[in-house]
Formats: sequence, C-alpha cells, structure tokens
Amino acid sequence: MSDFEPVIGLEVHVELRTRSKMFCGCSADFGAPPNTHVCPVCLGLPGALPVVNRQAVVYAMRAALALHGDIAEETRFDRKNYHYPDLPKGYQISQYQHPISTGGHLDVHRPDGSVLQVRIRRLHMEEDTGKSLHEGVPAGQSGVDFNRCGVPLIEIVMEADVHSPEDARLTLQTLRTIILYTGVSDVRMEEGSLRCDANVSLRPAGTTAFGTLVEVKNMNSFRSVQRALEFEVRRQGAALEAGERIARETRHWDERRGITFSSRSKEEADDYRYFPEPDLGALRVERAWVAAVAATLPELPEARQQRYVASGLTGYDAGVLVEDPPLGDFFDAIAGVPARSACSWLTVELLGRLNARGESITATRVTPEALSALIRLVEGGTISAKIGKDVLDAMVADGGDPEAIVKARGLTQISDEGALADEVRKVLAAHASVVEDFRSGKGKAFGFLVGQVMKATRGQANPSLVNSLLRKELGS
Ligand SMILES: [Zn+2]
Repeated sequence: MSDFEPVIGLEVHVELRTRSKMFCGCSADFGAPPNTHVCPVCLGLPGALPVVNRQAVVYAMRAALALHGDIAEETRFDRKNYHYPDLPKGYQISQYQHPISTGGHLDVHRPDGSVLQVRIRRLHMEEDTGKSLHEGVPAGQSGVDFNRCGVPLIEIVMEADVHSPEDARLTLQTLRTIILYTGVSDVRMEEGSLRCDANVSLRPAGTTAFGTLVEVKNMNSFRSVQRALEFEVRRQGAALEAGERIARETRHWDERRGITFSSRSKEEADDYRYFPEPDLGALRVERAWVAAVAATLPELPEARQQRYVASGLTGYDAGVLVEDPPLGDFFDAIAGVPARSACSWLTVELLGRLNARGESITATRVTPEALSALIRLVEGGTISAKIGKDVLDAMVADGGDPEAIVKARGLTQISDEGALADEVRKVLAAHASVVEDFRSGKGKAFGFLVGQVMKATRGQANPSLVNSLLRKELGS
C-alpha cells in the first residue's frame, strides 16, 4: 500500500440557517409535517418567479470570507438540469460560471502539531432538493416531502490537497468549526445540514499525475468519512496491485457493512446542461457591502487558536477550546491566573465533573469568576490542589464561592513549619520499619511517609513543605 498515495478532494454542502427559503418566502425550518412549507415557487409551478433571499447571500459571503475567499464583483445563477422525484422543477438553481466566491483556504491542525493547508477552489450558492419518504407511506409506495425544496445551501469545493483519510476527517471538522463560528448554519452532519462527498484516487508515490477519480457519497458522520475513505483507499490499492483498471464511478458508503458499493445515480447523467437562469438577473456585489459583512465576522477559529498558543497553551489544548465555542468563551472569562492552569482546571477538572453529571458548560452553576477564584487559592498556596478539587466538587453540586467554602470548612492549607514538623515526627515514630526501609534504599518508602502526613492532616498540609521537612528529619 505504501507504493500508492491517496489523493482526496472534498465537496461539502452546508444548509444555511435562514428563516425563509432561497427564492421564496416559505419557512426554511426543519421538522414540519411533509409538504406544509411549500408554494408555487419552490414547487416549480408554471409562471412562478424566484426572488433571491438577501440573507442567504449575506450568509454565503460570511462563510466565504471566513475561508479567505475572493467575493465576485458580479455573481450569477444557472440552472442545473436533471430529473429526479425530489426535484419538482426538473432543475436546481445553482451557480456554475460565476460563483459568489473563488479561492481561499483553511488550515488544519493535526494532533501532532503539524498544519495542513487545504485550498478552496470555489464556494457557490444553490437550493436544496426535496426528500423521498419511504416510511409512513403505504407499503410498496414512496412519498416525497418538498419542505426542504429551495432551502438555501452553499457548496464548498476544495482542491485535492488531502492525502489521508484521517486528514480528510480533520479537514471536515476544521471546516465545520469555521462555519459554526460564522453562525450561518448549525452544521450538523447527522441531521444533514453538513454533507460531504469525496473524490478519491490513488497514484504511485512520488508522481504528480492524477489517477482515476471515484466519488464516494452517503457518509453521515465524521467517523464514516474516515472509514469510507480508508475502505476506498484499500480497495483501489488492492485493485491496482492486481493490475486492474479503476472504473470512474460513484460509490455509496454502507455504514452497516463498512464498504462502498458502485451505484448508478443521477450524478452520472452525462450532462447537466447548465445554462444561465433566465428568471434571475446578475447580482452586483458592491465592495462596501463585502466590507460591511466582513466587519460583522467574530474572531475566527484560526485567530483564536493562535491567541491561545501565544498565551502558553499547547496546540492540542488550544484546539479543545477552539472546537467548542462556549468552552472557549468560558476560558476567556477566567481572569488573573496562568493560561495553562486555567485550561487544565476548566477542561480536565470542571468539564470532567460536568460530563459525569450530564451537565453542560452553558448550564453549570460554576461561574468563570468562581473558577478563577478557586485557581487563585490553589496557585497562591492557600489550599492544596487536592483540596481544590474537593472544593470544586462542592461548587459543581451547589454553586457558591470557593473562598467561603474553604473558610466554612476550615480547609486552609497548613504551611506552618512548626505545626507540620510535629506531624512529620509523629509519623516517623509510628512507622519505624518504613523508615528502616527508606534508609536501606527503598525509594517507595518516602512516598508512603508523605502520604501518611497528608492523611494525618486531612490533605491540608502543604505537600512541598512536607517533602522538605521529611527529608530534613531523615537526613537525606
Ligand atoms: Zn416556497
């Protein structure tokens, strides 16, 4: 297999979260009873005329700008013609020659810290199709729900810069995070508001020509994208090694069987006979409008990642915060403590406790201010990290102020040398045989003695002071 290099290009559809559809006033909401969000325009009845949804254009621009695309001065719509039961017009209004945006890129941070840059070829607007229904209809029949017909989509076509199934998954996850930040879609793969097709071919390692492309469809999760591509890379590799030719085709991923299978589908129709949409004029995109849309973009994931790394976080930790905007916002509100300990208290200690209770960071009783105060108590040596975790347990359960909890429970760390020295001597007297072990070179004995002192002080002893006092008493 190492003789071949996979070449993967991703095409992603994102459903835009507008109130109304792309070319009519029907609601674009998901989940209504079948065929209740329809009108003559989205049903393609004779004489109905489309009107472009301004909000959808703004959303497409937001996404394009977040991906560093160049917004066209003038963009046009085209008809993509094909026949399918879920497409009442017999064509889809899309963009072919003059997409709203071309170029751009996204930076994919891998777990090992390296970065893959994936270029974007184009981003265009189009309308969604309806949905075939095979459940809730009489046996042997199929229904069609046109509610989704005409819901605005953007399609993002990437260059074939990806060379492994894992990178394909990471690229898609990175794209999802960027779109999530722009607020133009809820980008849920399982619900179909983010859909991915992949073109995959193999070529002999070290060469640059492209092999025969196979398009893989029907992947419904990030994990299935990686699995489907792993299967396809293995399948094509085995075929090439056996001297077979790869057929240019569309294959569907079967999640249950874990394989791709060849499928004749509508996309294999030779030609979509694209032509300019006669019912819609060209759309002039004034530069002032582009600038106004750009000005409304929030800090984007890449900038946030860089800010976190600059503050001292590892790329991995920064990525955890960036991927989950409410978690990142919570982190940003923690004040007056070093970034690394803030991140660890938040993502390991607090999040671990919330996950165990099935709570979310947006609903917890622990405020960023209270967590900051707790971390300061630990960092300043008022309480040990161990006690800090107990206090956090109480905060997660009942809310409250860490200083008040520490005071009420008398948990302040014992850093008084005289008091601790007494405890240390008592422990040494009570464990003479362990002291013997230590003197005869058994290193583990030291840890046991530290543990005994901590136990005797109910975890309130300052651990580094216990360490130095023990060493002094033992003369080591
Ligand atoms: Zn409509």
